[in-house]
Amino acid sequence: MAEEMSTPSSSRKKAKRLPFEIQEEINCLYEFVPEVKEHFEVIDKIGEGTFSSVFLARLKHYPDIPQMFALKHIIPTSHPSRIEGELKCLLEIGGCDNVIGVELCLRNRDHVVIVMQYFPHEKFHDYLLHMSLTDVYNYMKHLLVALRRVHMFDIIHRDVKPSNFLYDRNTKRYALVDFGLAHKAPVCKASSSPNAAGPVDTSGILQETQNLSVGSSISTPVTQMSQSKHSASSSSRSQQYTPPTPNLSNSVFAKRVKSPRRLLLAKRALLVKEGKDDILSQRKGAQPVQCNCFGKPQICSVCSARSNQNAPRAGTPGFRSPEVLMKCPDQSTAVDIWSAGVIFLSLLSGRYPFFRANDDMTALAQIISTFGTDSVKEAAKACGKSLICSQTQSPVDFRTLCMKLRAAPMSKHQTKKGVTMDPLSEQSWRSVPDSAFDLLSRLLDLNPYTRITAEEALTHKFFSEMEERLGSVLC
Ligand code: ADP
Ligand code: MG
Ligand code: ZN
Repeated sequence: MAEEMSTPSSSRKKAKRLPFEIQEEINCLYEFVPEVKEHFEVIDKIGEGTFSSVFLARLKHYPDIPQMFALKHIIPTSHPSRIEGELKCLLEIGGCDNVIGVELCLRNRDHVVIVMQYFPHEKFHDYLLHMSLTDVYNYMKHLLVALRRVHMFDIIHRDVKPSNFLYDRNTKRYALVDFGLAHKAPVCKASSSPNAAGPVDTSGILQETQNLSVGSSISTPVTQMSQSKHSASSSSRSQQYTPPTPNLSNSVFAKRVKSPRRLLLAKRALLVKEGKDDILSQRKGAQPVQCNCFGKPQICSVCSARSNQNAPRAGTPGFRSPEVLMKCPDQSTAVDIWSAGVIFLSLLSGRYPFFRANDDMTALAQIISTFGTDSVKEAAKACGKSLICSQTQSPVDFRTLCMKLRAAPMSKHQTKKGVTMDPLSEQSWRSVPDSAFDLLSRLLDLNPYTRITAEEALTHKFFSEMEERLGSVLC
């Protein structure tokens, strides 16, 4: 992603000469929002994403105050509700538990600048292979603390990935940033099972079980979805989000089950109580309308006349959860947990990005080749989807995979770029506890209804075992 840019290490450096284009951009910023020029001296540009540019600045009239600021200039074409949402999140959630806070917001016409404390950080690529298992433990713990905080508000961040979780290796501090795609976890439908009533789209027409077919080969995934009009734009981040459910706010159900988290827990309790199979058979009772193309890699005229199924799909392909990739309208904070799992997978394997995909079907094919066809099919069912694969693939063993990958690029890197790890750190990778891979499998649970929550994950054995280890090292 283009959004990771090099970060100046020392912020107090005297005005270095900036490249012409950057100086131009800074001048534009001054022009667009004169108050920026009034109060700040913009020193450099430190980040650029799809919807913003981020600048480093200090206070103009208080040169002795060492505090630096990050000025996020949001592109003026952003929908006001998106900007409002981002600000609200920063205001309500930010400022504690590893979530970045907001200091100030400046606006002139359609230009909005969010002022945050500058958080020094390095690129994930630059520290990934230097991390010891203890570093990974700390990183995951702080990430989950941040997510627990965000999810407490029933907010889905929707774009959890290393460039949005800043890590300052010097001070061992962390900050979750970028609520540009964050959204309230929607209360979806008044159903007791994940899909009993079927998802509702904005036109209010009930939709039947959707047919997904994915070729197991990663390079050429023959997909029914990608040929259909169901497939949305291929942009990596979709800006607009359409809530999948109209009118439910008035229903008795919505009044009773206000929190999607509670809904999720209720569903999970039901799963445990009735057994998975029972729930699946209940769903069969919903009678999906079978048409000419059901189960075939083609679209019939009945299906092409159907209305779109609206499901939020914002985020970055390699970090999208199976339910997002399969366009399930019923999405919860569990999508962030999946992304945290993908980060954990990178940390354990030393590979980043782990899933490298430009589109949803390739991403899904990569998930299938990692988790195996059977388990992905089962998870699809839990989301009310029917997944058809042309081949059968068995799941990989995460410990074997991670240890193999970790061993391979390390040696290359050491000779190529002179990346070395201190002996203690290196040693830590020789005894990764099983609990690490257990936690990994719980974060990367394909089924969002049974996936672990941030709060539960923090009490996982991996963390207590690592704490014990660290305790015994210190003694
Ligand atoms: P976008 O929505 O464009 O991705 P982000 O909020 O993720 O915007 O910011 C883009 C980049 O700018 C981040 O990946 C990070 O490198 C940098 N950045 C953002 N906020 C801060 C901050 N408070 N301190 C330091 N750098 C930041
Ligand atoms: Mg970002
Ligand atoms: Zn059809």
